[in-house]
Amino acid sequence: MTETATRIAPSSAAFNADGSQRSFFVRTLGCQMNVHDSERISGSLLAAGYVEAATEDADVLVINTCAVRENAATKLYGNLGHLASVKRQHEGMQIAVGGCLAQMEQDEIVRKAPQVDVVFGTHNMGSLPVLLERARHNEEAQVELLESLETFPSTLPTKRDSTYSGWVSISVGCNNTCTFCIVPSLRGKEKDRRPGDILAEVRALVDQGAIEVTLLGQNVNSYGVEFGDKLAFGKLLRACGEIDGLERVRFTSPHPAAFTDDVIDAMAETPNVMPQLHMPLQSGSDRILREMRRSYRSKKFLGILERVRERMPHAAISTDIIVGFPGETEEDFQETMRVVEASRFANAFTFQYSIRDGTPAATMADQVPKEVVQERFERLVELQHRISLEENEQLVGTRQQVLVSVDEGKKDGATHRLTGRAEDNRLVHFAVPEGSETPRPGDVVDVEITRGAPSYLLADAPDGAPLRIRRTRAGDAWDAAQAASCGTGSADTAVGAVNLGLPTLRIGAPQ
Ligand code: SF4
Repeated sequence: MTETATRIAPSSAAFNADGSQRSFFVRTLGCQMNVHDSERISGSLLAAGYVEAATEDADVLVINTCAVRENAATKLYGNLGHLASVKRQHEGMQIAVGGCLAQMEQDEIVRKAPQVDVVFGTHNMGSLPVLLERARHNEEAQVELLESLETFPSTLPTKRDSTYSGWVSISVGCNNTCTFCIVPSLRGKEKDRRPGDILAEVRALVDQGAIEVTLLGQNVNSYGVEFGDKLAFGKLLRACGEIDGLERVRFTSPHPAAFTDDVIDAMAETPNVMPQLHMPLQSGSDRILREMRRSYRSKKFLGILERVRERMPHAAISTDIIVGFPGETEEDFQETMRVVEASRFANAFTFQYSIRDGTPAATMADQVPKEVVQERFERLVELQHRISLEENEQLVGTRQQVLVSVDEGKKDGATHRLTGRAEDNRLVHFAVPEGSETPRPGDVVDVEITRGAPSYLLADAPDGAPLRIRRTRAGDAWDAAQAASCGTGSADTAVGAVNLGLPTLRIGAPQ
């Protein structure tokens, strides 16, 4: 697949009869893939002539759905039920539903929720403006879902949510067949972008002021298989290291089965690749891993972690774990506890297994009773909570370079702190001593850690010394964006930030 920019034509449906622009709002559910897809949905609507609204009270409400979450369909129809009355009060309002759940439910959505005007899938996000126009003109719902990708989504106009940090897709889809996962049937087979196209997008982001990129793929380690280069991912990381002005490179998600030493070498030898790794374990039991159709075993998993830490002793490693997969016995669960204890994860995203229709595991015998899953889950949370706390406490007294973010510190206003991410992606809340200059989102501060909690670090500057701030191009870009949108440019004014986390629960106390 070769990439050329996809042109979105201006749409007459983007304007009211008096010539004013119609507004849109995108509500995003689910993972970082969806967050990035929503940037493309927004970009396509802006290119068609719509204007983005700050709240959901918009002329066009787009719901970018996720099928991975428990009861996703029930929740969607509940939300749509509420929106029916909102729509009755708002003349000309249109509702569009896209994403994985739309791909799964197809025209069932308009059958159950006739207030929906457009249903579009994961493979045709760029069609949304045309579908909205057609729905408005024909006064009937439009459902368009493609079975496979026609143009790579990265060619669509993209409205980036963050000035300092950006997502860049390296592949879409997945060739694996994990039995709990709905992704392969909804996102299709893996399609890899050409390295040149990826690097061009990274350079363009850096030119616009970003200093951090996160490379995205369902399974980044199999990147290159489609064009016959098994070492392509490590080479891509090294090539990112050559880009002037790019300070932080991250990626998600790798797969333990395909994680090879050349990638560890590339991470360790490329200074702007951050000492951070998200490595999904899913289960510590080899028997359950086999049932999940995940081809690595716990010994291999622990071996990868050991080699990563040999080369990058300060790497923060996080993971995903599913508790209560069908047939999981107490013995299997103890294996997960053993591997978690040995892995010393910085944090873990834990899931209680629940049936996802359309996946092989949904019809497996021996579904584990809910109360058993809950009880195991609580034990796992407690264990990881302790480990996260111990790991974070070890950082007290160290200095960390923190990239200032927006919207990540929910209590910043009350605590008079700002928030950002350390190089290893740990969340850091830091004080701004009186009289100190205030950094902008995108600037980097050099702080000393004064306390470790399970899910964050604090840097409270007990001596009251002014913050050590490195003003960056990303901070300048943030200022420019604020000025363009008539903001004030102060650090407590939020532009919509990109959420770097994964979905669902992060173990540790809420901040
Ligand atoms: S590798 Fe990830 S995306 Fe692919 S099937 Fe397994 S869990 Fe799903």
